[in-house]
Amino acid sequence: MIPVQFNYKAPDNLEAATKLLSENQGAQVLAGGHSLIAAIKSGKISPPLLVDLKKIKSLEGIKQEEKGFLKVGAMTAYDKVASTSEIREDYSALAEAANNIGDAQIRNWERIGNIFAYSDLACDVQAVALVLEANFNSVSTSGNHTIVADEFIALGFQRQWKLNEIITSLDFPEPTPGSSSAYECIKHPASSYAVCGVAASITIKENNIISKCRVAVTAATSYAIRLPQVETAMEGKIPTIENIAVAAQLAKENVLETSKTHEELNIMSDVYASAEYRTHLIGVLTQQVLVRATKQAKLSFG
Ligand SMILES: Cc1cc2nc3c(=O)[nH]c(=O)nc-3n(C[C@H](O)[C@H](O)[C@H](O)COP(=O)(O)OP(=O)(O)OC[C@H]3O[C@@H](n4cnc5c(N)ncnc54)[C@H](O)[C@@H]3O)c2cc1C
Repeated sequence: MIPVQFNYKAPDNLEAATKLLSENQGAQVLAGGHSLIAAIKSGKISPPLLVDLKKIKSLEGIKQEEKGFLKVGAMTAYDKVASTSEIREDYSALAEAANNIGDAQIRNWERIGNIFAYSDLACDVQAVALVLEANFNSVSTSGNHTIVADEFIALGFQRQWKLNEIITSLDFPEPTPGSSSAYECIKHPASSYAVCGVAASITIKENNIISKCRVAVTAATSYAIRLPQVETAMEGKIPTIENIAVAAQLAKENVLETSKTHEELNIMSDVYASAEYRTHLIGVLTQQVLVRATKQAKLSFG
């Protein structure tokens, strides 16, 4: 039984959708409905109106933009993201994270634009958006906005995201030569949600020096964060197993320090995985993901 009554509209264009949101205070956008309907059913929220985006065709699909971005529409299903050959080849961390979500049925139904708005704590794609330096595009009656993943994820978590904004797409910058990315995750065996996930992207120059490294953790922390100490320890180094091991050792400390300086950032703990276990996993997965991303980046030279 759904204990709350709500109205339902499914406009076929963004202008109508943003107008509906601005005219109906508390109205929420409906994408795949997996999180939203569950929250309504449990009585956590009771929006007066749901604005379904499924008829707005411009929000769906993946395309290469001339200005050097891969644009993934907010209403693109995870399964489409995981199975698109261009994403599998050039943005492997994104394909791996999308493929890690739930099961086949979930991936076929849930859409990539939603989780950031909902600040889902165990969201796989958040860490990937950080390491691939994605931009989020959104629209409201006051115009179009673009916000970089670094700012957007923390803001989303702090619930400053305005309900009258619709995320329209995620833009992923084209990878430079010699770069690759990967995602490693330990999943909960029952819910299949991530217990700890780490994404990395690496760029290696032809002189075999790492020129750029991005590492981010999700699910073990209350929102996804980058690990700048690990990144700095990798940059300027030769990609050896020893150098990776030294950098990965900094991961745990980096997260603990960040949680001390960021009030809202906690290390997650529950009956399945304690905070101590999750912090241990951060170190282990960081090492694994760096090894794989580095190996792939080297291979990309051919
Ligand atoms: C069984 C199960 C297993 C799961 N496993 C995983 C997992 O392993 N990893 C993982 O990361 N996640 C997992 N999830 C979470 C899942 O990814 C979220 O439930 C999902 O992202 C919600 O997607 P949806 O399309 O159903 O969004 P909805 O439920 O429709 O929307 C969620 C929220 O986002 C808002 N919203 C949606 N689209 C937009 C938009 N374009 N612009 C602005 N706001 C928007 C809605 O208003 C709502 O507040 C799992 C969920 C289930 C049910």
